[in-house]
Amino acid sequence: MNSFDTAGPAGQPADAPSAGTPRFDTADLQARDSASFLHPFTDTKALAARGARVVVRGEGIYVWDSEGHRMLDAMAGLWCVAVGYGQHTLAEAAYAQMQQLPFYNSFFKTTVVPAIDLASRLVRLAPSGFSKVFFANSGSEGNDTVIRMVRRYWDLQGQPQRSVIISRINGYHGSTMGGASLSGMDYMHAQGGLPIPDIVHIGQPYWFGSDRSESPDAFGLRAARWLEEKILEVGPERVGAFIAEPVQGAGGVIIPPATYWPEIQRIVDKYGILLVSDEVICGFGRLGHWFGCEYFGTRPDLITFAKAVTSGYIPLGGVLVGDRVASALVDQGGDFNHGYTYSGHPVACAVALANLDIIEGQDLPRHVREDVGPYLKQHFEALIDHPLVGHAETCGLVAGLALVADAATGRAFDPALEVGMLCRDFCFNNGLVMRAVGDRMIISPPLVITRGQIDELIALIRHCLDLTLSEVTSRGWR
Ligand SMILES: *Cc1c(COP(=O)(O)O)cnc(C)c1O
Repeated sequence: MNSFDTAGPAGQPADAPSAGTPRFDTADLQARDSASFLHPFTDTKALAARGARVVVRGEGIYVWDSEGHRMLDAMAGLWCVAVGYGQHTLAEAAYAQMQQLPFYNSFFKTTVVPAIDLASRLVRLAPSGFSKVFFANSGSEGNDTVIRMVRRYWDLQGQPQRSVIISRINGYHGSTMGGASLSGMDYMHAQGGLPIPDIVHIGQPYWFGSDRSESPDAFGLRAARWLEEKILEVGPERVGAFIAEPVQGAGGVIIPPATYWPEIQRIVDKYGILLVSDEVICGFGRLGHWFGCEYFGTRPDLITFAKAVTSGYIPLGGVLVGDRVASALVDQGGDFNHGYTYSGHPVACAVALANLDIIEGQDLPRHVREDVGPYLKQHFEALIDHPLVGHAETCGLVAGLALVADAATGRAFDPALEVGMLCRDFCFNNGLVMRAVGDRMIISPPLVITRGQIDELIALIRHCLDLTLSEVTSRGWR
């Protein structure tokens, strides 16, 4: 059994919880980890040589590893822990539901109370015009559901040839066969014969990654028009939907120029194609509104959700279905031959309801919109004064910065140097979880973060940027 020391590690700030840190045999855990556990998106051999960091506890916006190191988790787990760690009401909701009814299916003319409550709650929280919810267990399964729904919808319209779904290069929509096909990562497509048929991709609205010869607004319009060009290339009569994240997350927190989404909306309206907003990251307050489409003013037909719907305490995802698709599916559709054993899982739904109680009760979307979002913007975007930073931008509580060899010109590092990974390791070793996507450093902190904690976060980021700067300078990389 693990023992708990009450003192906590030396150097821990005084505001840290006093519950103590469990003591673990890290070497043994790492050995058994690499012996049996194939990690997602991981080079297992390389990880085994190094040993995984064992995360054992969380409280608020912090996590602790098996060595007792505290880290400010600026990634909220993996974009999901909106309400922070250690929220007892979510645990209690799971416990109570497991005792009452741990599982029952919703396939055969049966239903369960938490799924009813959650579906009606989500419909109430969603933008107007959304009347139905389909439950899955993850974002990937939600997007697989989207593919099935889009194609079913067009079948029911008597236009089965409208099977093409347009997505974006460097968008992320999951890792199932459908999700990975929608995702625009060629290193994913290269493994497993993807994408599946009739999924095509256009470029992303990443102004800083362009040649920057145009203003961001001019570039945003041009990037949106790549959608129209693709529709015309494929044939408008063959295109069923366009799917995108309001702000790309896993692709490196790519925030589109203001001109982008209105032009996308104009184009999907012109050709009558469905708009799918993948809100697996942007949903539930991340951008300062319940859904990211509300921030950008778009009117999607389908919304994919997951992650923050339960703050990651238990897996749950799904699709919010707008009236256009819902009425076709329900009024003319008959059987929809799709579903998962755990669609509407009562324990997951009960946890989601307790999570939404916190998000609604504390009005976290407003906390982001009016308080910590603007505060993070002010301080994160000021990092542009650092000699390693070529671009720094936030939107609500997501933020990304680009590490560059020359801040004056924006000249990038040679990707082979993996400067982002170097910086990430400095962060990890200095009490900060910040993710690297190539040479972009990104954060997505818990929504419950305070201004004081943002000060701490920014100080940690500056410190780690300084460490990275002296390392790349001493290696002669700039
Ligand atoms: C994480 C993510 C997914 C996939 O969700 P999983 O739960 O990992 O299957 C899909 N879309 C977006 C935008 C995501 O960030």
